[in-house]
Amino acid sequence: MSLIVQKYGGSSVADAESIKRVAKRIVETRKAGNEVVVAVSAMGDSTDELLDLAHQVTPIPAPRELDMLLTAGERISMALLAMSIRSMGHDARSFTGSQAGMITDARHGQARIVDVTPGRVRDALDEGAIAIVAGFQGFNRGTGDITTLGRGGSDTTAVALAAALNADVCEIYTDVDGIFTADPRLVPRAKKIDRISSEEMLELAANGAKVLYIRAVEYARRHGVTLHVRSSFNNNEGTIVYNAPDVDPARDPENARENSESPVEEPLIAGVATDLSEAKITVVGVPDIPGKAAQIFNIVAKTGANIDMIVQNVSAASTGLTDISFTLPKSDGQSVLTALTAEQGDVGFKALQYDDQIGKLALVGAGMRTNAGVSAKLFTALYEAGINIEMISTSEIRISVVTRADTVNDALRVVHAAFGLDAESDAIVHGGTGR
Ligand code: ADP
Ligand code: ASP
Ligand code: MG
Repeated sequence: MSLIVQKYGGSSVADAESIKRVAKRIVETRKAGNEVVVAVSAMGDSTDELLDLAHQVTPIPAPRELDMLLTAGERISMALLAMSIRSMGHDARSFTGSQAGMITDARHGQARIVDVTPGRVRDALDEGAIAIVAGFQGFNRGTGDITTLGRGGSDTTAVALAAALNADVCEIYTDVDGIFTADPRLVPRAKKIDRISSEEMLELAANGAKVLYIRAVEYARRHGVTLHVRSSFNNNEGTIVYNAPDVDPARDPENARENSESPVEEPLIAGVATDLSEAKITVVGVPDIPGKAAQIFNIVAKTGANIDMIVQNVSAASTGLTDISFTLPKSDGQSVLTALTAEQGDVGFKALQYDDQIGKLALVGAGMRTNAGVSAKLFTALYEAGINIEMISTSEIRISVVTRADTVNDALRVVHAAFGLDAESDAIVHGGTGR
């Protein structure tokens, strides 16, 4: 008997009809002789609606109360799903995150899983029931409070349950057929990927491909969980996210072939992602002497902001000065500006500029490690489309550029085509609003 963990995203359980459809799928998996654990998201866009509601009451909701509010969304979908399955004559039990043993740290809104103790889930399975677990939520032992795992966190719930229960498969059901070479809502000719390494998926997720939550990919990588991302609207095979072996195939080909789930030749490019959620801060006129960058980024670090790209230029202001620019999530912009302004005299810079009209594009592929022409091709494609590049950063398997926000979607389509990723026909998006 196999143990299968299935995660259904909000778009797959948007209304009563969808819940019945998903319930039927779950029952079929059970009837095929498997043990089934389900992690479920809140219905449709209900998390966003609850968030909107909170902001109508107060501009800065108390984090503890916000988690209390948002976790209500998954409580609704888990109970409805369990009811629906029971009405089909199968035993099903729903569990909140804390009942399912999702133990987290105390950081409201961004809690990390520190332990998983799914005793009640295991008992339910042993008694022949289907276990339905509320995604996205956990419990902190110290404070005794309910936490949430960050937006998109139901993916993490599924992966953590799969790891703790030693599941055979972790299936992530969503509203597209799998992971594509680009967001199919933005690039209709995006191609479905059959297999992608978790390393590449991490880069795509970190750069705006919200089909999988980055922390879920990290968790799966650390615990050796293979993911199957697929559509809940049909039975097509989706995308396998595999963990590349630790063995270096060049040095140990025998073992690599045995352990590896990865294809021998990796394609040059896995995909392209874009992100409109970042802003750029430029610290203008910084004295060009040792220690200034350290001072600036220590101030930034204290705010807890996650900075991404950094560029230093000769200052336009005057000689002997430099300008330092960096990107960060828009949501961190205000606190970083405030912190830097407070220390302006000490650091000795001239001014701060804030630009929230930037877009980021990232080209990802493990094959680029051994291919020199990738950046030239990327920059040429953007040049030919008349798109200006404002910042560039690279890792071993990624090249990112910053452009104006209103050109990033054009950039995405141009780059996708330039790297030969366009499919013959348009991709199908089954549901959801993409919110
Ligand atoms: P769910 O409600 O199932 O969690 P999400 O909306 O979080 O669904 O994620 C699915 C969406 O992710 C798709 O509808 C698609 O628009 C978007 N997406 C972004 N990048 C990609 C990609 N590379 N491949 C597939 N989908 C992507
Ligand atoms: N409902 C939560 C959200 O919208 C978690 C999830 O769907 O994964 O972020
Ligand atoms: Mg999601």
